[in-house]
Amino acid sequence: MEEIKFYYGENIPLELHKVRVVQKLHLVPIERRLKALEEGGFNTFRLTTKDVFLDMLTDSGTNAMSDNQIAAMMQADDAYAGSQSFFKLQKAVEDVLGKKYFLPVHQGRAAENILCHAYIRKGNLIPMNYHFTTTMAHITQYGGRVTELLYDEGFNVDSDYPFKGNMHIEKLEETIKTHGAENIPFIRVEASTNLIGGQPFSIQNLREVRAIADKYNIRLVLDASLLGENAYLIHLREEEFKNCSLGEIIKTMTDLADIVYFSARKLSSSRGGGICTNDHEIYRELEPLIPLFEGFLTYGGISVREIEAMAVGLYETLDETMIRQSPDFIAYLVKSLDDHGVPMVKPAGVLGAHVNAMEICKHIPQNEYPAGALAAALFLVSGIRGMERGTLSNQRDEDGNETLANMELVRLAVPRRVFTLSQIKYVVDRMTWLYENRELIGGLRFVYEPPVLRFFMGGLEPVSDWPQKLMAKFKADFGDSL
Ligand SMILES: *Cc1c(COP(=O)(O)O)cnc(C)c1O
Repeated sequence: MEEIKFYYGENIPLELHKVRVVQKLHLVPIERRLKALEEGGFNTFRLTTKDVFLDMLTDSGTNAMSDNQIAAMMQADDAYAGSQSFFKLQKAVEDVLGKKYFLPVHQGRAAENILCHAYIRKGNLIPMNYHFTTTMAHITQYGGRVTELLYDEGFNVDSDYPFKGNMHIEKLEETIKTHGAENIPFIRVEASTNLIGGQPFSIQNLREVRAIADKYNIRLVLDASLLGENAYLIHLREEEFKNCSLGEIIKTMTDLADIVYFSARKLSSSRGGGICTNDHEIYRELEPLIPLFEGFLTYGGISVREIEAMAVGLYETLDETMIRQSPDFIAYLVKSLDDHGVPMVKPAGVLGAHVNAMEICKHIPQNEYPAGALAAALFLVSGIRGMERGTLSNQRDEDGNETLANMELVRLAVPRRVFTLSQIKYVVDRMTWLYENRELIGGLRFVYEPPVLRFFMGGLEPVSDWPQKLMAKFKADFGDSL
């Protein structure tokens, strides 16, 4: 990997692309931001982009496309069946992910729906390194249960352990012995484990999981939505792969899984998703579900233009300058905030920087959603939209009780090649100010709580007039500044 050194020794990530299309942003006054929060139920998902300055909600479908992706979209082959665009994508999947059978789906969760529909029966258990929101929802929807098998380091926000996404091998084997392999239709591993801060697993660990899967004859499913970034961190952190290309690392990972699925809203910086395998039997089991839930087999609910962009985007996943930009910006953001004393999840992961709300909002009980409150407060003082990843994102248990999250995080996503370094510096500035005024942040409570995936559309209100007090302090410190 090539490093660019600066004469004055300043260590900043340099953009290795240029901006050729721009979109104007709006930084609205703080009074309007407070109003927007009230209108959106203090839920950052419900803000609209006309009020948002830096949209760090997610890296899903918000990445900058390359000139080659846009060019490819212009030549898409519109056909219900047998589109040439599909065959280009199928070839890209085979070249990059090493799987010859490919089923297109409209996004990542659709792949989860297909897999759960095909394999999960009531009472089944799915061991995984950690759940993702949509994965958990689909598994439970089909009557299954999830068990999360991280090592303790994975939950420790202060640990510098390089592979927090590793699956606990001994616990995996114990779980299989206790529940019986026949009740475990598949083991799931998630690349760059999203909800614990975009933390990678090592190939060493994946090989060990594979060995257990073989021993008990259980399918191994890889959620590859954040595969490129996991490969980049393996390249940086796992000795054996120091001199390997991203392509070699990616193939090593996908070769170890029976089924690979992904959200193309992340992997390939387009929109859509897919499931792939080299196992013809698996392909035959899943194939009939695509026309049922998604669309014909050569488009799967994706527009042909996006299929073209996905094919080009998959090849670009092999380009280190493309893959490293977001993780390098995140590392810079985490280091800068850490230098200012703001509690951050370390080491820096991928897809975003993760702020430790449990620590910052110690004074807010978990059932008043400290991470949700911090996300709302950050928007109020900056126009930056982050995402709550904590108790609010959890679902209640069967008895309707809150399940308190292991971690209360605010994720500040850094979509691929979208932001400039001065924007990242603005995030550091406002987040640091908010940290120094953290005692002004208060809790939230639900006024409207949907039964499934409540964090998306739920409505909340502050438990006191803390937003007004925070706004007053902001105005005292920043005067007329937005
Ligand atoms: C985003 C994501 C999904 C779901 O993908 P969508 O395209 O949003 O449906 C599944 N798994 C992981 C790890 C993700 O990051």
